[in-house]
Amino acid sequence: MVLDDLGSSLRDSLGQLSGQSRVTEEDVEDIVKEIQRSLLQADVEVSLVMDLSDSIKERALEEESPAGTSARDHVLSIVYEEMVDLVGDSTEIPLENQTILLAGLQGSGKTTTSAKMAWWFAKKGLRPAIVQTDTFRPGAYDQAKEMASRAEVDFYGDPDEEDPVEIARKGLEETDEADVHIVDTAGRHALEDDLIAEIEEIERAVEPDRNLLVLDAAIGQGAKDQARQFDDSIGIDGVAITKLDGTAKGGGALTAVNETDSSIAFLGTGEEVRDIERFEPSGFISRLLGMGDLKQLTERVERAMEETQQEEEDWDPEDMLKGEFTLKDMRRQMQAMNNMGPLDQVMDMIPGMGGGLMDELPDDAMDVTQDRMRDFEVVMDSMTELELENPRAIGASQVERIARGSGKDEERVRELLEQHKMMSQTLKQFQGMGQGNMERMMKKMGG
Ligand code: GDP
Repeated sequence: MVLDDLGSSLRDSLGQLSGQSRVTEEDVEDIVKEIQRSLLQADVEVSLVMDLSDSIKERALEEESPAGTSARDHVLSIVYEEMVDLVGDSTEIPLENQTILLAGLQGSGKTTTSAKMAWWFAKKGLRPAIVQTDTFRPGAYDQAKEMASRAEVDFYGDPDEEDPVEIARKGLEETDEADVHIVDTAGRHALEDDLIAEIEEIERAVEPDRNLLVLDAAIGQGAKDQARQFDDSIGIDGVAITKLDGTAKGGGALTAVNETDSSIAFLGTGEEVRDIERFEPSGFISRLLGMGDLKQLTERVERAMEETQQEEEDWDPEDMLKGEFTLKDMRRQMQAMNNMGPLDQVMDMIPGMGGGLMDELPDDAMDVTQDRMRDFEVVMDSMTELELENPRAIGASQVERIARGSGKDEERVRELLEQHKMMSQTLKQFQGMGQGNMERMMKKMGG
């Protein structure tokens, strides 16, 4: 995710302010440029980015830094405040009787989020129930049921009923003792018309008080279209961002929020039912900037910088050169390729990497076609963190589970593992080549 860079590039620009008591126009330009670059690459609306830049510039140049605050801290706090303003307040979620409908693409984390939200409501003293209407994804029923039992909340689903609208209707009846109903819906890999029609019907049947769009934090470009389509069909009141515990930082969600004129409601930070937080703007922006919690800015800037550094160290392009190429690296590359175009063209853009180098690779080493890539992503969505980090540990029973969870053939799962192995071997062949070029390439591809 491109915003991953923001913390570090901002730190570099801010670092140049060290020891200065005032900022110059040039300093501010540099900083604003970094922010613009990151936000634009992460698909945040141009107009939003421009408004943000103008406010930052104006404030940084006109406001005096408070006594005892360095120019650097002052500018950082302005950036932080303006960005908090940009993401807006948290979606209002009253602690009372209500029905919440979850929408989103397959793999975005709806089922997991419904259980997490139920757990969250239960902790607040309410009695939540999950109504599972996903009849499309094999395994959704079992997964939801299992998570509901872990969250210790009421659950309704019916693996023998094919009509999700019927399940929704019946689910509300059967769980009428509960005061908060969370209705999980089916996703698809893309926004097909039948998905939209189905969710509209469910919406009419359950008459939710609010509709939340569940978005994977790693989503970039896709957030906008998804958000618009779901908003057009059922109206989106809030966004739940999932998988914030990964390397991605949720920039696409800003676009979705803007697109639907809504706000962020919840953040998912892991696979367990308790890995959920209510969205809190200041903490979120701190994380987006990769700088820990910036709330008490002046005290924390230094430590925050170290945290960012640590995050960077967590993904080292050199790991790949050493042959430690994980499925996460592979996914990152696939996503980068999706954003940037075919790999050979990407290579051409990097100094020293173009001009025939790709010809030396075995043809099929990088041959991941669009369809397979999409399948692979879905398959990877059903893997655990551990499996993504250490694909060699994936045995036959895991393959079976992953296939079931993702709704893909076991063959596809094995194909993915094969492809990963091949790419990892290919990367090993690169080991002898110029380190500088390689690092630049990896950074680019990972970015
Ligand atoms: P659905 O198809 O939208 O219902 O998605 P799922 O709820 O099945 O989630 C897809 C995958 O993402 C599963 O393997 C989940 O365990 C995982 N997942 C969901 N939310 C999170 C999260 O916040 N963090 C992590 N690490 N994984 C998550």
